[in-house]
Amino acid sequence: MRTLQGIAVSPGVAIGEALIVDNEGFRIPRRFVMRDAVDDELQRLNNAVEAVAGQIARNRDSVTAQLGDQCGAIFSAHLQMLRDPSLLAEIEGLIRQKHYSPEYAVSQTLRRFAKVFEDLDNIYMSERAHDIVDIERSLLGKLLGERREEFSHITSPAIILAHNLTPTETANLDRRFVLGFVTEIGGAGGHTAIVAKGLEIPAVVGMGRFLTDLSGGELVIVDGNHGRVILQPDEETIAHYRYEVEEHQNLVAQLGTLRDLPAQTTDGTRITLHANIEFPREAESCLERGADGIGLYRTEFLYLGAEVEPTEEDHYAAYAEVIRQMQGRPVVIRTLDLGADKLGQLPQDEQNPFLGLRSIRLSLRNLPLFLVQLRAIMRASALGPVRIMFPLVSTLADLRQAKMVLADAIEDLEEAGIAFDADVDVGMMVEVPAAVTMLDRFLKEVDFISVGTNDLIQYALAVDRGNNEVADRYQASDPAVLRLIEQSLDAAKAADVAASVCGQMSGEPRYTMLLLGLGLRTLSVPPSAVPEIKKICRSISITQCEEVARRAMTMDSAREIDTYLREELRKVAPEFGDN
Ligand code: PEP
Ligand code: MG
Repeated sequence: MRTLQGIAVSPGVAIGEALIVDNEGFRIPRRFVMRDAVDDELQRLNNAVEAVAGQIARNRDSVTAQLGDQCGAIFSAHLQMLRDPSLLAEIEGLIRQKHYSPEYAVSQTLRRFAKVFEDLDNIYMSERAHDIVDIERSLLGKLLGERREEFSHITSPAIILAHNLTPTETANLDRRFVLGFVTEIGGAGGHTAIVAKGLEIPAVVGMGRFLTDLSGGELVIVDGNHGRVILQPDEETIAHYRYEVEEHQNLVAQLGTLRDLPAQTTDGTRITLHANIEFPREAESCLERGADGIGLYRTEFLYLGAEVEPTEEDHYAAYAEVIRQMQGRPVVIRTLDLGADKLGQLPQDEQNPFLGLRSIRLSLRNLPLFLVQLRAIMRASALGPVRIMFPLVSTLADLRQAKMVLADAIEDLEEAGIAFDADVDVGMMVEVPAAVTMLDRFLKEVDFISVGTNDLIQYALAVDRGNNEVADRYQASDPAVLRLIEQSLDAAKAADVAASVCGQMSGEPRYTMLLLGLGLRTLSVPPSAVPEIKKICRSISITQCEEVARRAMTMDSAREIDTYLREELRKVAPEFGDN
C-alpha cells in the first residue's frame, strides 16, 4: 500500500481499479485472455517483439552509418534489453500463469524494470529507465496498433489515473463508469477541477510524477476530500474508507431535508444561495439541492468538444432548457469565457494565455460570434428571468463595448419583431484587480457584479490557477485577496448594486462565515455544495460572522487565516470542520 498526496479538487471518495492514461495516451487495463487462447497470445507477443527488434536494428544501422558506432551502440543496448531472457520470461510467465493479456503483461513487467532503474542512485543507470519506457511504448504500439481507446468508450467502472485531463475530456467522462480521477499536473483553480466538481466526480490533481510505477488494474482509493490517493490499499484502509463513504451518504441524506428551507441565518438574515453550472443538465441538480437560482452559467462549455461551431439555435436551445427547468428562478448567463485555459490548447501560439485573448476580449474581437450568443440570450429572456454577465472585464472600455454589442443585438430583435425581456439586468464579473480598483466607476454602469475569485486570486497573486508547481501560493484566504473582496463588496454596498461571489471559494465551508461577515448576501456555489453551505448559513448569526471577519482581516497569512476559519467552523458546524 502507498499513500500519495495531491491537491483535493472535487470531494468524495472513490474505490476502484486504476485505468492509466499517460502522456502517450496508452491505457493498459488489466485484461485476461481465455485459457485456450494463451498460445495465440504468446505468438502475438512474439510477433510484436520481433517487429520492434527489427525496427531497432534498422535504427541502429542507419544511425551507425551516419554517426558512427558510438551512437549506434545506444540502439544495440535497446536491442539487448528487449531480448533480455529474464524480461521475456517474466512477460511470458504472466501470460501463461496469470492469463494476463500481452499488453498488460508487457506494461506490468517493463514498468517494474523501469522503476528499479529509476530508483538507482546512479544518474547514468537511472536514465536507463527512459530506455525501458521507450521499449514499452514500442511494444504496446505494435500490440495495440491503432486501437487507442477514447474516454467515452470506457464501459466498466474505473478510476482514471492520467498525466493530465483537459476540461473537455473531463466534461465528456461518463459518470456511470468513471468513479474518480487523479492527474499528475493541474491546480485547484483549473477548469478541469471545476468541471470535476460540477460532475461530482471525486478528484485529486497536481500529484507530480507517479504513473511510471503503475500499469493499470491496481486497486486505488481516491480521497477527494483530503487530496489523498492510496495505491493498493490494505483491508483496514478499504474498510475505513467504506465507512467514510457511508457516513457521507448519511450526511447527504440529512442535508437533503433542508432542500425547501431558506438559507437564513439564526438572526433572520436571508442569504441567497445560487449555483454554478457548465451544462444545461446540471440545472436539475440545482433544483434537487435547493438552490435559489443559477448565479453563473458558464456558457463556453457549449463550445468545448463541439465539432462544429454552435449556432444561435444551439445557444437558444441550451438557455431555454435551463430557464424552463429553473421554473421562474433567476438564471445568470455569462457570455463566452473562451480561451486557451479552457480549450487546453493555444489557439494562436499565445505565450501567456491567461493574459491573452480570452473571455470578453475574444468576444469583442469576434463580433459575429458574440452577436450570435447575445441574440440567443435575449430571445431566451422571454422565457424567464435572465441576467447577462460579462466575464474578465478589465477596463471601462471593455464594459461599454460589450454593452454596445448587446444594444445592437436588441435592436436586431426589435426590428425583426422577436420577443425578449427589455428589463434584463446586465452585470459584470469582478476578477481582475484593475476592475476592483475602478469599481466605483463600473458600478454606475452595471446592475450587478459577481466576484470571480478563481481568476481574482491568480491575477492578484501572479499565480497560475492551474499550475501545481505554485499551487501552495494559490490561496483564496491570502490577505491581499481578502482585501480585494472586501473592497468590492464595500463599493457595491455604497453604490447600492447587488453583489455576489461565484468563485470556488464561495462553495468552501470554511469561508462562509468570513464572506457573510464581509457583507456578502448572495453566494453562487457548485450545485453539490448548496446543501452544506445552506446548513452553515442556518447555523450562524451575522453578528458572529462579522466578528470572525474582523479578526481574520487582522491576520497576516493565508495559513493563519485558514486555521482560524476552520476552528470557527468547527464550533458551529463540526461536521464540516475539516473543510
Ligand atoms: C472565476 O474566475 O472565479 C470564475 C467564476 O470564472 P471561471 O472559473 O470560469 O474563470
Ligand atoms: Mg473567471
